[in-house]
Amino acid sequence: MTLEFEAVIGLEIHAELETRSKMFCACLVVDPTQSEPNIAVCPVCSGMPGVLPVINQRAVEYGLRVAIALDCEIASASIFARKNYFYPDLPKGYQISQYEEPLARNGRITILTSQGEKMIRIRRVHLEEDTGKLTHVNGEPILPVDGSASETGGYSLVDLNRAGVPLLEIVSEPDMHTAEEVRAYAMALRSLLRYLGVNSGDMQKGVMRIEPNVSIRPVGSQALGTRTEIKNLNSLRALERGVAFEIQRQSGVLRSGRSVTQETRGWNEALGETFAQRSKEDADDYRYFPEPDLPPLVVDTGWIQQIREALPELPNMRFHRFQIQYSLSSYDAGVLTEEMAVADYFEQAVRTSPHIPPKNIANWLTGDLFGLFNQTGTPFDPARLVPESLASLVGLVLAGEINQATAKTVLSEMFETGKSPQDIVQERGLRQVSDAGLIAGWVRQVLADHPDQVKGYLAGKETLSRWLFGQVMRLGKGQANPQVVQQELDRQLAEMKNSANL
Ligand code: ADP
Ligand code: ZN
Ligand code: MG
Repeated sequence: MTLEFEAVIGLEIHAELETRSKMFCACLVVDPTQSEPNIAVCPVCSGMPGVLPVINQRAVEYGLRVAIALDCEIASASIFARKNYFYPDLPKGYQISQYEEPLARNGRITILTSQGEKMIRIRRVHLEEDTGKLTHVNGEPILPVDGSASETGGYSLVDLNRAGVPLLEIVSEPDMHTAEEVRAYAMALRSLLRYLGVNSGDMQKGVMRIEPNVSIRPVGSQALGTRTEIKNLNSLRALERGVAFEIQRQSGVLRSGRSVTQETRGWNEALGETFAQRSKEDADDYRYFPEPDLPPLVVDTGWIQQIREALPELPNMRFHRFQIQYSLSSYDAGVLTEEMAVADYFEQAVRTSPHIPPKNIANWLTGDLFGLFNQTGTPFDPARLVPESLASLVGLVLAGEINQATAKTVLSEMFETGKSPQDIVQERGLRQVSDAGLIAGWVRQVLADHPDQVKGYLAGKETLSRWLFGQVMRLGKGQANPQVVQQELDRQLAEMKNSANL
């Protein structure tokens, strides 16, 4: 008998809140990739004795934006606590974090997978501070005398720029069952954070960090199995692969009759494997107690109301509206609404050209224009090619002024130079040729120039007509209207066939 297993997965996500200053002091939040180490540090965030933390109101507001958008119950008073542990990147010896009384609880978010939409429950959302960053520098290896490898001269560098940066922790219920759902959840949350303007979603820079908790249980069982937690996943791809690997690994462990050990596991990108890091600590190990230097965080309903009213239209609402208002598939609507700048761009393009079917604009935007941004490795930037220009390009294609192939060339040039499609078509004489007389002449010339291929076609090699078509398009420098070429070619070939049969 083979036992069927199902995976159960819950996620903890840490998102830095991109405020101007840190969570409990006035130090600036600096870009880790752009800054010298230890330039944004003060006595508070470096843990000097005798200093007092002060709560950053903007960080609370950002946290509330997220909590409200996740449909959470907001605590009228939440409590900061000290989570005690020693580590060189934590000079205070404790992290200030919300524990028993978090900012918000019991929310939800809708995710989209190939199975459709699904609701994932949010357990809690709380505020805390980030730690510093360590860089380990390896020393010289010592030649093993007694067989034990060792090294000397190694050291670790401490950078406290990140210490005290506001962090929002968002914890889901264990409602996910596949790697695909995990990825979809991470994408939905990332998209939401970006819409809300609180986090860039840049996983490579570490501003959004995802830790999946994975367990396995026999199908039909309600009890939760023993879980592992995977750390240091710094891309959506690593997240998806890490979860898939862990599901396989744990299933194997259970099938072999052993049991899963509760532990924290790392991710080895090169090997595509998780590996045991440390056994899981319990909450008791941290000796949590309320932070004596901070009062309860009181949030009044007026403020909540104000923040709620200022929220933008959220990705999921926009996703549904796009499908209805613009008759788009759920796939298209999903791609267009994932990023607010893209959704705005699309709507702007549609607004400037009400006669163009939105679907055509969606295709050019998410296909060719996205392709150009990808090729150049630059993020989507509306200023690079204004929505009005993209709409006019699509308009030129629909009006038959240029064909698809020419339009792609024109789009690349628009992308490079910022010129309007009309100017490019004009300057380079790219207007599509639909003149039947002219095209008939080109067809006649191609047929006359390639008697062998024509003979082959008449003898039954039908595919040669595609080749002949290509020759006519070439003769017309790619500007001939393909429909007219096809018709004319078919007509002349049919004529030849008839006279050959006579
Ligand atoms: P911590 O990891 O800090 O002890 P929690 O117990 O709150 O915190 O759980 C963290 C995450 O792990 C949550 O997203 C939760 O849904 C998920 N989780 C808890 N138990 C399991 C389990 N047995 N299998 C899968 N996920 C779990
Ligand atoms: Zn500081
Ligand atoms: Mg955890």
